Amino acid sequence: MLDDAGLQALREAARLSPDNLPLRRHLAEQLLAKGYLADAETEFRAALMLAPKDADITAGLAEAFVRQSAHGAALSALEPFLAAPGYPPRMGVLAARALLGEGETGRAAQRYHEAVSRDPSVADPELAARLTIPAPSTPAYAPPPGPAYATPADAPSGAEVEKSKMNFADVAGMEAVKESLRVKLLLPIQQPDLFAAYGKRAGGGVLMYGPPGAGKTHLARAAAGELGAAFVNVGLADILDMYVGSSERNLRATFDLARRNRPCVLFFDEVDALAARRSDMRQAHTRQLVNQFLAELDGVDPNANEGVLVLAATNAPWYIDVAFRRPGRFDQLVFVPPPDAAARAAILRILCRDKPLAEMDFDAVARVTDFFVGADLKGLVDRAVEVKLQQSISAGRPIPMTTNDLLAAAQGTRPTAVREWLATARNYVLHANESGAWDELMPWIKRKW
Ligand code: ADP
Repeated sequence: MLDDAGLQALREAARLSPDNLPLRRHLAEQLLAKGYLADAETEFRAALMLAPKDADITAGLAEAFVRQSAHGAALSALEPFLAAPGYPPRMGVLAARALLGEGETGRAAQRYHEAVSRDPSVADPELAARLTIPAPSTPAYAPPPGPAYATPADAPSGAEVEKSKMNFADVAGMEAVKESLRVKLLLPIQQPDLFAAYGKRAGGGVLMYGPPGAGKTHLARAAAGELGAAFVNVGLADILDMYVGSSERNLRATFDLARRNRPCVLFFDEVDALAARRSDMRQAHTRQLVNQFLAELDGVDPNANEGVLVLAATNAPWYIDVAFRRPGRFDQLVFVPPPDAAARAAILRILCRDKPLAEMDFDAVARVTDFFVGADLKGLVDRAVEVKLQQSISAGRPIPMTTNDLLAAAQGTRPTAVREWLATARNYVLHANESGAWDELMPWIKRKW
């Protein structure tokens, strides 16, 4: 059992979103940073199942091995990468530590020297001393800015500007949610004079929460398109960095990117990791990141974030520091619910609209897909399409999809975690709704499932 509340929160979030690679990676890195080496190893292995050739994750796993003195395991994890000439220098240093552990001082020194000559910032004076190599005179262990590997020193965060081709017509149901986004985000930009007359400005943030796969990202992207605004989709991996100080720089660069592209919807997925309760955190630098996020939301001057609409999504809103809910920050909480039968039919209609179809009874499919969220329905349609494609290839002509195809695909599909999510939500919010923050959620968690 971990005795660190922040880590436990992260682990719970990862359990709820087992396929969320950035989240799993972050959990593994945090475990490693805090010295839970065996747990870190398990998590890095799980992350590697999702992204088998990922260099960062492999390096993390190798470090967990080295620190547990499993030098052979570390070397075999690193081997496929070290064979290529441009391998990440951090891996060279890890290999040197493992080789030294195996008693191969000569080869260790060679690896170390090669890695440091390509990237002096990976130098490790203590290791160098054990290899009898003089430590470099440049500041040793200076944290390199930006992501860990092969990134130019002044690199901005990994987030990019997109032009969203979707709008609210691509989002089935969720009328109440769309309406609140319209008022909060779209009208101030579409009718600035009216808002100025009342002393209101465009901007501020909305925090969307709900079970994974219910359409939060989809909705954010559609909101950007509806507005004709740029869309910046920020994942955890774009911000979090193993080096102290770099995550804050990435966050600032991301806000600056949005400010340069206004009007802009800046979307933070899995925001609970960036906006976690500071009381849950032991590490000063994680608290610093949360403080930086608050500072960016407030802006250095009142106009700093004009035209930047911050949307954030989380599956675990109860971990968010209340400071984020103050006016001007994420002052609106919006529950993105699992779709009911009518919404499921509408989602299916949207997902199938460009496919060759026979007459379809989407309502019939909606009736047998209780607990399915948008992501589950997308998986179901993808599977039905695959089967149809194979039949069409054999027949040599396109065979339209039928209701039965979808029903058959539904039979073989288990919905993801809605029930589990609602049970967790119930535990967290049932006795903690004094402020009324969870009012929208209440009818859902009180219902019998
Ligand atoms: P979340 O961000 O809540 O985890 P996503 O936005 O990634 O969920 O949803 C997964 C997929 O499900 C989307 O890419 C989209 O294809 C589909 N989807 C979800 N909700 C809707 C909806 N209301 N209308 C149409 N498609 C939806």
